[in-house]
Amino acid sequence: YDAKRSGRRVEHYDVDRHGDSSGRLALVEELRAGVQRGELVLHHQPQVDVVTGRTVGVEALVRWAHPTRGLLQPADFLPLAEVHGLMGPLTDEVLTQAVAQAAAWHRSGQGLRVSVNLSASNLLDTGLPQRVAGLLAAHDLPPSALVLEVTETVLLSDPDRSLAVVAALAALGTTVSIDDFGTGYASLTYLHQLPVGELKLDRSFTADLLTDGRAGAIVASTIRLAHQLGLRVVAEGVEDPATLLHLRALDCDETQGYLHAPPLPATELEEWRTVHERQRTGARH
Ligand code: C2E
Ligand code: MG
Ligand code: MG
Ligand code: MG
Repeated sequence: YDAKRSGRRVEHYDVDRHGDSSGRLALVEELRAGVQRGELVLHHQPQVDVVTGRTVGVEALVRWAHPTRGLLQPADFLPLAEVHGLMGPLTDEVLTQAVAQAAAWHRSGQGLRVSVNLSASNLLDTGLPQRVAGLLAAHDLPPSALVLEVTETVLLSDPDRSLAVVAALAALGTTVSIDDFGTGYASLTYLHQLPVGELKLDRSFTADLLTDGRAGAIVASTIRLAHQLGLRVVAEGVEDPATLLHLRALDCDETQGYLHAPPLPATELEEWRTVHERQRTGARH
């Protein structure tokens, strides 16, 4: 895999270092305009079935192709968007692109699920479920092809309202996923209350799996609990084959991480998938 070819930038634009408060406000205005001008792009990271090796889904991760600063990463602009009330339009744009891409893959016979991250303010937006329903209908995408990732903490500011929005999204037939599972608190309470279909084990557990027996115990019992509740488990941040083998032994369902591929533009994801499928089927026959 060639990072240069994918046009990814290694350097980060550091908002705090470069921006005094007026610099930050200028960036907010650029973001507001940039969202409308179509400067947001999605990169897609594959999610691989642990047993078959098949690519079953992708997580769509937003980047901002800034006209002069290069490709900005989520950490460079999402915190600003959240604070300055831009998460609504940003998420609408991400959802529109993600659903359109999923529908295109669907039409070409590749039934890939697409996962989209939602933020705290998105879950306070009671109009969101209806807009998601509209997008699915407009692109003729089965709701089961869309996964919506929320973290435990996004539910905290107004739990009643957030839970109602999550319930409405699940009622559409989309899958609700708990992202970064294990880093928040009251995890078990939320699993019990929410119409959740998927759980994503946080990268910190995956990273420590081989070296820390306690992390191993937490992962093993979390997977068992999730399965007892009927949830699919996706491990994040899988970087080496030994960790993948361990996760397979623990009955984890899917893995995502640099071991397979970094987040890639859609066409590169398709190229990666072609190669990966050839290796996968070649190794089995
Ligand atoms: P996340 O949802 O937990 O996404 C996974 C992050 O881990 C991604 O960072 C991904 O590039 C990175 N990652 C994947 N595999 C590995 C690995 O093997 N090792 C390591 N060290 N990292 C790996 P990214 O793309 O910078 O996104 C960071 C966070 O920004 C995401 O964390 C998510 O919380 C947020 N985010 C990204 N796109 C969106 C979006 O469209 N909307 C919202 N609301 N949040 C987003
Ligand atoms: Mg995520
Ligand atoms: Mg995550
Ligand atoms: Mg994480």
